[in-house]
Amino acid sequence: MLICSRCKKEYPDEYSRYRCICGYCLEYKHNKEKIFSKTNIVTHDWTIWRYKNYLPVNERFKISLGEGLTPLVKIPWLNHNIYFKLDYLCPTGSFKDRGISVLVSKLKEMNVNNIIEDSSGNAGAAMAAYCANANTSCTIFVPQNTSLGKINQIMMYGAKINKVPGSREDTYIETEKAAEIVYYASHNWSPYFLEGVETLYYELWEQFDENMPDNIIVPVGQGSIVLSFELALRKILKERPIRLPKIFAIQAKNCAPLYHAFKNDFKKSKMVEKRDTIAEGIATIKPVRGEEVVNIIRKSKGAVIAVEEKEIWEGLKLAAGKGIFIEPTSAVSIAGMH
Ligand SMILES: *Cc1c(COP(=O)(O)O)cnc(C)c1O
Ligand SMILES: [Zn+2]
Repeated sequence: MLICSRCKKEYPDEYSRYRCICGYCLEYKHNKEKIFSKTNIVTHDWTIWRYKNYLPVNERFKISLGEGLTPLVKIPWLNHNIYFKLDYLCPTGSFKDRGISVLVSKLKEMNVNNIIEDSSGNAGAAMAAYCANANTSCTIFVPQNTSLGKINQIMMYGAKINKVPGSREDTYIETEKAAEIVYYASHNWSPYFLEGVETLYYELWEQFDENMPDNIIVPVGQGSIVLSFELALRKILKERPIRLPKIFAIQAKNCAPLYHAFKNDFKKSKMVEKRDTIAEGIATIKPVRGEEVVNIIRKSKGAVIAVEEKEIWEGLKLAAGKGIFIEPTSAVSIAGMH
């Protein structure tokens, strides 16, 4: 069942709209939640589907390209042991595959065979790949200035491209209009996407010997990695207490609405300005669940940190100097750690 996080209105799983009639986002509510424990993990499955008992979709409809179970690499750094979770080793190159695998599987279960999605990068590539595998027809709305590399990747998977003039926000407005007639499989709105991203934390729990690290440092734009942190911990903590990590969310100073909301009051924080950043994947000026993201970070006693462009470049080089080659968006985490 789906439930509105704000007005608490309920909808069936196969509700065809991407949000509540009140305009806010929906959350997935499990009806009989399984206890989180090793015995409910399918340990011979080496993908996120080893957690199928916690995923909101029947395994019969599974669309998987082998996503998840990524390495956790320990690297001594600044007199600490830092662990890198290498999600760039997912099939299309980012953690988006976790959420998109679950979302596209759910679409199969719902018998939805034609979707639209908007993205300027990794989510579009992931959606195109999983839709190709699922034989689902898919159109990705992208800002006019999206890099040719990403557009080629999306088109090679067989998805259609709809280039929208103007900013990333203009692309979103255009997609919302089209959503009146086609299923809008938005990774930023869909609760099924978040349910898939949760597997990141189930893996950490296994890799840290049924516990968690002290601190978690992540890049945030919309904040799906923070939102799914809360959802996953809720499930894990039902079983037994574990170490409660602080979560540190890093933004590029050039586009940092969550940073401003964290420092000030969310409602009082005025519309922040947006400048170009090399961390393209997190250049989000109006995160859909921004207030929830900030609350989760506060509750964990973590923080939102904003970093300069120069620091992001340095982070990129520092990581590469240890043998970890990442994209600038991910390098904000390195910059934030320093
Ligand atoms: C999408 C993406 C992010 C940001 O995810 P949000 O849900 O927008 O916070 C960060 N890093 C990479 C590599 C991404 O692809
Ligand atoms: Zn509502």
